[in-house]
Amino acid sequence: MAGNCGEPTPEPRHGDRAQLLGAPPNGRAMKPVGVYVHFPWCLKKCPYCDFASFERARDDIDHRGYADAVIAELDARSDDYRGRLETIFVGGGTPSLWEPEELGRVLTAILERAEARSSSGVEITVECNPSSLDDESARGLACAGANRMSVGVQGLDQARLEFLGRLHDPGGALAAVRAALAAGVRVNADLMIGIATGFDETRHQTPDEAVAEALTVTDLGVGHVSAYQLTVEAKTRFGELDRRGHLPLVGDDRMAATFLATSRALEARGFEHYEISNFAKPGERSRHNVGYWLGHDYLGLGCAAYGTVTRGASALRYRNAPNPERYLARIAAREFEPHEAEELDAEARLRERIMLGLRLREGLDLEAAAEEVGAEAWPRERVRATRELVSRGRLVHDGSRLRIPREAWLFTDGTAAALF
Ligand code: SF4
Repeated sequence: MAGNCGEPTPEPRHGDRAQLLGAPPNGRAMKPVGVYVHFPWCLKKCPYCDFASFERARDDIDHRGYADAVIAELDARSDDYRGRLETIFVGGGTPSLWEPEELGRVLTAILERAEARSSSGVEITVECNPSSLDDESARGLACAGANRMSVGVQGLDQARLEFLGRLHDPGGALAAVRAALAAGVRVNADLMIGIATGFDETRHQTPDEAVAEALTVTDLGVGHVSAYQLTVEAKTRFGELDRRGHLPLVGDDRMAATFLATSRALEARGFEHYEISNFAKPGERSRHNVGYWLGHDYLGLGCAAYGTVTRGASALRYRNAPNPERYLARIAAREFEPHEAEELDAEARLRERIMLGLRLREGLDLEAAAEEVGAEAWPRERVRATRELVSRGRLVHDGSRLRIPREAWLFTDGTAAALF
């Protein structure tokens, strides 16, 4: 727990939180599990966003009722992670809107039900927006149990922030990052790169501008940077503009130059470019997201949350009710069956491992992944596709491992699909 937290939050039943965070695993060699908690409300919907996020004023959110519902769902699902908890990620939406006391109750309940933790402690990340993160709220989140904050900076240019529909300005973004750092937690800054605010090329972000923004946030002392490209989603305002030819976008060459310039600049500052969109100082990788990319199980809690849990030779992928009202009504009626569920067989699981594992700098151990899920690593088509991709510089094949060189990272989706 960081800083001076004033009133203590309720203690877990099975020991104090410090013990819980540092307790060794139960001697069981089991794969770690992450827990994802979705908080579905934002002050304003961004025009490019297709996440499950719903506009609501902070005072109109039932903070306590939502925490109670998530804890009730947790009680119905905790068998799936007991003894294996590695990370918790509270995403959204805008979780920094959640009353810290209520968020703290949820975190405490998750830690309590887990019963045993990894010896290195549980990574607990909370996503934060600059418009709802100041010194006081950052301290509150740290006192609630967060030991990592991911701040949605997105950009440090007023025109770009307005184009993206964000509520904060550049000064507010930097102040939020400083507040998170002052709370004594690990900090990630989310940036968007390659944004165009108009069709005229003078309004397309240059590689130098993207680099300058990335270096400004690293100068503040963050240990992790995520640099995303804009994805145009069909069911959003940007998707509609794009269909009508009214959405300005940077060209592929500008995007590739921006991506590589950002990568080189951050590496020169000691950040490892460890995943297509993610950079970390030593020891600062997001353990939660690495768990996704390695194919570990994760429990999803809350409205619209996805989860994946291994069930013998297959895996269950589920999704909770996609809007807050339906989610809350179902939990109130003690209906814990997921809104949607599908069983992933061995082939589907291996395809997913390939798609996600190739996002990592070190790629994936294809043969180990295939053995784990019970699928064939090298059917004839994959052998042929691998040879062809290697000859085009899109893939490196080293023993049982496959990885994508940085220069070809922007083609990862096509490379992965060719290996299916
Ligand atoms: S703040 Fe994030 S989750 Fe909320 S609408 Fe904007 S992009 Fe979506």
